[in-house]
Amino acid sequence: MSFKPANNIQDLQYFGEFGGVNPSISDSSTYTFLSAKTMFDTFEGNADGCYLYSRHSSPSNLYLGEALAAMEHTETANVTASGMGAITSTILQLCNADDHIVSSRTIYGGTYAFFKNFTPKFKIDTTFVDITNLDAVEASVTKNTKIIYCESISNPLLEVADIKGLADIAKKHGLKLVVDNTFSPLSISPAILGADVVIHSLTKFINGSSDTVGGVVCGTQDFINHLRNVNDGASMLLGSTMDSLRASSVLKNLRTLHIRMQQHSKNGLYLAQKFENDGLKTVYPGLSSHPSHNLFKSMMNAEYGFGGMLTIDVGSLDKANELMELMQHRNLGYLAVSLGFYKTLFSAPGTSTSSEIPEDEQKEMGLSDGLIRFSIGLDADIERTYKMMRDCMEELDILPTAQKLKVG
Ligand SMILES: *Cc1c(COP(=O)(O)O)cnc(C)c1O
Repeated sequence: MSFKPANNIQDLQYFGEFGGVNPSISDSSTYTFLSAKTMFDTFEGNADGCYLYSRHSSPSNLYLGEALAAMEHTETANVTASGMGAITSTILQLCNADDHIVSSRTIYGGTYAFFKNFTPKFKIDTTFVDITNLDAVEASVTKNTKIIYCESISNPLLEVADIKGLADIAKKHGLKLVVDNTFSPLSISPAILGADVVIHSLTKFINGSSDTVGGVVCGTQDFINHLRNVNDGASMLLGSTMDSLRASSVLKNLRTLHIRMQQHSKNGLYLAQKFENDGLKTVYPGLSSHPSHNLFKSMMNAEYGFGGMLTIDVGSLDKANELMELMQHRNLGYLAVSLGFYKTLFSAPGTSTSSEIPEDEQKEMGLSDGLIRFSIGLDADIERTYKMMRDCMEELDILPTAQKLKVG
């Protein structure tokens, strides 16, 4: 594929009002108008380029939104105060009472809880399916279905969605395909593959410094206008607005995303190969043992790799907890949720980020107790990291015995 998302970010030029190489930060909640007529027109949505009030839009937020739209190859984008702010406003904008959603069953715990526990209040029902089974997806579509929802790479099981296949189903039935691309920025470009709306939690890889939450909805100008509409726009009315200061700091971090993703991917692939070689049950889309390895390859922008997320299964929650505590003690990373930081982060999803999913459903989707999710950091010397992690595993008797004997 010849799409170059990082070039699209690099090629944008914005200057500050005094020629600064970064755009000036807009530090106002409200804006003056030279004429009362223009203020009225702006309220009606008919005065392009005018700012009204910063919950609606602000220069700093628009700069960040345009850069993310360039990255995702959509007409435009709307940044939000968090990833959940992007997801909830999108869903509530697209669905009315009595509408239906077909969603992947392996999604971020907060999104799952929103579909399962919150949207039923508005009579919006969700059928959860195995997203890798396109027949099951299509069979779940009803006359009330409005949305197919998935993550490009699912959290935490790292299942890969066939975005082209899902887009075909969506088109055939007149549905919107909404894709959360948080785990694979730059690597996968869902809009190019047919997604109608692309969402990110900016909190993760895109901002990359674990100092803020943030989100974005990338889509058509028409859809983003709807989200911001003063009369019935979910972003405007639910009010999950990003602050301008944050938008400008996320924009600065976005500019190094391509370098960071390459290092996350390089380190992720190295560790996944080593762990698998050691006989650990390892899931990473870059391993040929991953059931969707070839699908990922067919969708990816190759230079950004298979990403920084991997999981291993160490058999039990006790072992997982012991290993994570020891690795943290040896400064190999932090026992923390979230992802995309310079340090490796690890957590046991069953008891943390996916704890919203009931235990029996966790079992059914293959989310086992001993699963550890890693967000691999930017370690300069990944060989050293591997050796130290392996020492931890040996001390805790986690490595399969045959492998241990072989090493002596
Ligand atoms: C973290 C995350 C979210 C939620 O984003 P917040 O910024 O925490 O609101 C949504 N989807 C995925 C895949 C995530 O990892």
